[in-house]
Amino acid sequence: MARLVMKFGGTSVADIERIRNVALHVKRETDAGHEVVVVVSAMAGTTNQLINWTREAATIHDAREYDVVVASGEQVTAGLLAITLQGMGIAARSWLGWQLPLNTDEVHGSARITSIEGDDLMDRLSQGQVAVVAGFQGIGPDRRITTLGRGGSDTSAVALAAAVHADRCDIYTDVNGVYTTDPRIVAKARKLDRVSYEEMLEMASLGAKVLQTRSVETAMIHGVQLQVRSSFDEPQSLAPTDMSQVGPGTLVCDEDEIMEQQIVSGIAYSKDEAKVTLIKVADKPGVAANIFGPLADASINVDMIVQNVSDDGTHTDLTFTVPNDDLPRALKVIEAAKDEIAYRDLVGSQDVVKVSVIGVGMRSHAGVAAQMFKALAEKGINIQAITTSEIKVSILIDAAYTELAIRALHTAYGLDGD
Ligand code: ADP
Ligand code: ASP
Ligand code: MG
Repeated sequence: MARLVMKFGGTSVADIERIRNVALHVKRETDAGHEVVVVVSAMAGTTNQLINWTREAATIHDAREYDVVVASGEQVTAGLLAITLQGMGIAARSWLGWQLPLNTDEVHGSARITSIEGDDLMDRLSQGQVAVVAGFQGIGPDRRITTLGRGGSDTSAVALAAAVHADRCDIYTDVNGVYTTDPRIVAKARKLDRVSYEEMLEMASLGAKVLQTRSVETAMIHGVQLQVRSSFDEPQSLAPTDMSQVGPGTLVCDEDEIMEQQIVSGIAYSKDEAKVTLIKVADKPGVAANIFGPLADASINVDMIVQNVSDDGTHTDLTFTVPNDDLPRALKVIEAAKDEIAYRDLVGSQDVVKVSVIGVGMRSHAGVAAQMFKALAEKGINIQAITTSEIKVSILIDAAYTELAIRALHTAYGLDGD
């Protein structure tokens, strides 16, 4: 007998028929004697709708009340799944974040989990009850509802798996695993049987939304066995979980559990980037501090930075990127500091995308970046900014070339499947 956390995303619970399908996946496991905690997202599209309503109600609004509204989507699906399971003769009970409780910090809208009370839940599991938990939500130190940031149900699931000492956390979604790149962009993307925590962490933080970054971080810290698999497979035709066998999806695991490590394992992209260019900034000490100090004070995260060489030794252009939503604020901050920075022009642009290649093999292999630049040059794609770390290279390009660039890189690194 195993203890499983099964998480189902928005498209997997999009209507009552899909919820019934989810219930059959759960039944398959309980019939085999496994203990199950299910974590559900809101129905596809619901969270976007709820967010839009808060914006329509007031452009600037109280983050606590935003959380009250956007957390409601998960309450609906948790109740509906519990009802459906009960209809199939399975003892099931729904749990909201505050009822567990799943405790978080006070950062409404993107709260971090601080602790989860798992004892009550474990008692219920041992009595044969299925716990259906509303993902994405918790309770803050102010005893008000919090939410965990977009895609946060993944993190609810992994944190719960750690809290109840589950044997595995299965993330059921609309693709059957983690691919070398987004399979919706590259038809030749290949499913990975295994991917290391570190690579998955980079892939998620660089835009592959199949897992929320914090869920991978949490799995890595607590050593949770994490698997991504499909909810669209016929529930009853699948064999129930057998912990002695490798599952059907992608296992996120330690690097040393992967036999054949590729140099590049995946390619990710993020459209959540905006570019800011300061034209003709004085080329002298202290200028970068005058630019990035006020941005940091405004809590704006700067990602890539490029400073051009000045041709006359006195002035230069400086480009950096910020998250899309922060562009208007970033421009305001820089304008307000114009006197101290002393630049000629300021230009903001959202027509850019960040494309990243990721692989732990880069630690021991030279030439990965060079290969990237060559593949892009062959397609006539201009690189606007570059950043690297030990296991990734990221470039900023014109958004119009997103698909062309990803396909070219996928082929260049030998990742194409059939
Ligand atoms: P859910 O609603 O189940 O949480 P998401 O939409 O958040 O699902 O994540 C699944 C999606 O992630 C897939 O439909 C796919 O388009 C996208 N995706 C991006 N990169 C990858 C990747 N490398 N492998 C698999 N899926 C990816
Ligand atoms: N419903 C939330 C969202 O759309 C959380 C999740 O799906 O994981 O972001
Ligand atoms: Mg998701």
